[in-house]
Formats: sequence, C-alpha cells, structure tokens
Amino acid sequence: MASQLRLRSALALVTGAGGGIGRAISLRLAREGAVVAACDLDGAAAQETVRLLGGLESEEGTSCGAHLAFQTDVSDTGAARHLLEQVQASFSRPPSVVVSCAGITRDQFLLHMSEDDWDQVIAVNLKGIFLVTQAAAQALVSSGCHGSIINISSIIGKVGNVGQANYAASKAGVIGLTQTVARELGRHGIRCNCVLPGFIGTPMTQKMPQKVLDKVTGMIPMGRMGDPEDVADVVTFLASEDSGYITGASVEVTGGLFM
Ligand code: NAP
Repeated sequence: MASQLRLRSALALVTGAGGGIGRAISLRLAREGAVVAACDLDGAAAQETVRLLGGLESEEGTSCGAHLAFQTDVSDTGAARHLLEQVQASFSRPPSVVVSCAGITRDQFLLHMSEDDWDQVIAVNLKGIFLVTQAAAQALVSSGCHGSIINISSIIGKVGNVGQANYAASKAGVIGLTQTVARELGRHGIRCNCVLPGFIGTPMTQKMPQKVLDKVTGMIPMGRMGDPEDVADVVTFLASEDSGYITGASVEVTGGLFM
C-alpha cells in the first residue's frame, strides 16, 4: 500500500497553508506521502494545519516525517528568502514540491480603487509568488534536484471580474510568470504549472454577498461551487510524476464556469 503513494519521498512547501485551499492541499499532499512545510502569514493557522496533518498520520500511517509550520509574509523579500533557508535547514534539502497558495482580495470598483489596495494585492498575489518561486528554484538548481512548482492563479485572471481589477491583474500575471518559469527551468528538470480555480467555498468567498454567490452558482454548469478538495486533487496530480510531461499549463478547476 505504502509503495503506491505518489509523493512518498517529496518535501512540499505550501504557502497560504492555513487557509481554505492551502490546508486542503497540505492534507492531500500528506495523504500521498509528502512531508509538508506549511507556511502562512497567520502562524497559528499554519500550526493548526500541521496539527491536522499529525492526526492524519496516526489515522492512516501515510507520512514518514514531521511536518512543520512556518510563519512568513511571502510579499516580503527577506522573509521569502529566509523561509526557504529555514525549510532547507529543517529538512536538510530543498522542497521538491512548491505550492504558492497565499492570496488576498481587496475588492473595489476601478473608479474608486486606492493605490494601496492595488499595491497590496499585487505584492501578495504576484510578487509573493515570484519571490517564493525564485528562492525555491535557486535552491533546487544549486542542489541539482528536480521539482514541481504549482502556482494558484484564478479563472478571474483569464476573464476579469467586476470589482477585482487588482486581483484579476495579479492572477493574470501569475499565468505569465508560470509559463516563463516553465520555459526557463524545464532543462533543470523543474516543471511549473498553475491552477485556475473558479468559485471555491473558503473564507475568501465567504466574504462575498450571498446574492452574488447565488448568481455565480447559477452560472456554473456543474451546479455547485467547488470544494477546496477539488483544487487539492489537481494540485496533487501536478505535483506527482503522473503529470511528468506537463509544464507551463493552466488547469481550470471551475465546474465548467467561463469555459
Ligand atoms: P483563504 O482561506 O483566505 O487563504 C489564504 C491564506 O493566505 C490565508 O491563510 C492568509 O492568511 C494567507 N496569506 C495572506 N497573505 C499572506 C502573505 N502575505 N504571506 C503568507 N500568507 C498569506 O483563501 P483561499 O480561498 O483558500 O485562497 C487560496 C488561494 O486560492 C488564493 O491565492 C486565492 O486567490 C486562490 N483562489 C481562491 C478562490 C476561491 O474561490 N476561494 C478562487 C480562485 C483562486 P490570513 O488569513 O492571515 O490573511
């Protein structure tokens, strides 16, 4: 049974690991045998994810190492570098799976959006992924290790959304960044893909008015919002060798919305 685990020897770094999707990804990767370095701005939330991973281990006997939590602001250059150093020092190797899931919204119509709201969203959602990806890639290349980098973008990065100029721009940027990283790092055995979730039930979407959620749900061919686990399944596929010849791809997990 244990030999069938797809991520048996993987060390996975997950940012935003205390949030709805990041926690589901951490749990799913650990179920496949990965050891997880769970990072979040909210250190207590990252710790809680690690506590849940511990429970999983004793229930299923899947993982073979101690998962660890890290408190980090991915938009801070020094902090992102320090995160990679801490992870490498803690596990004596760079992460072979890197999932950038940390993200924020600061919604406002373009006519009223403040420069600060623009800057904050770009700093976390786009620059944060650049910083983590660059630090992880440098660690992998210098140690000669292969890896799989997975960035969480959004379907909004492809189609835009009223009230989300900052968010849509950041998520579109993640697609371009991902494709460029895939082109540059393929020869080093490092793949880079992104996932474009639609509307997923998490604290992020709980902030949306029920009226809007009902309207969106009515537009989804599959007739329901997604669960964090729907995204986690695809991330796990992209992390594993089952997707060994896929790089630079943007995989939509939307229930068919905006196809
Ligand atoms: P969430 O529950 O709010 O989780 C996001 C997590 O990221 C939170 O724990 C948050 O911590 C953390 N975070 C925020 N800023 C950070 C920073 N500077 N450094 C490190 N961590 C930071 O949201 P989610 O729905 O799971 O979203 C996860 C990702 O999926 C995001 O990139 C989001 O844009 C994307 N996505 C979500 C949906 C959806 O429908 N939910 C759809 C498409 C894409 P705090 O709680 O302390 O802020």
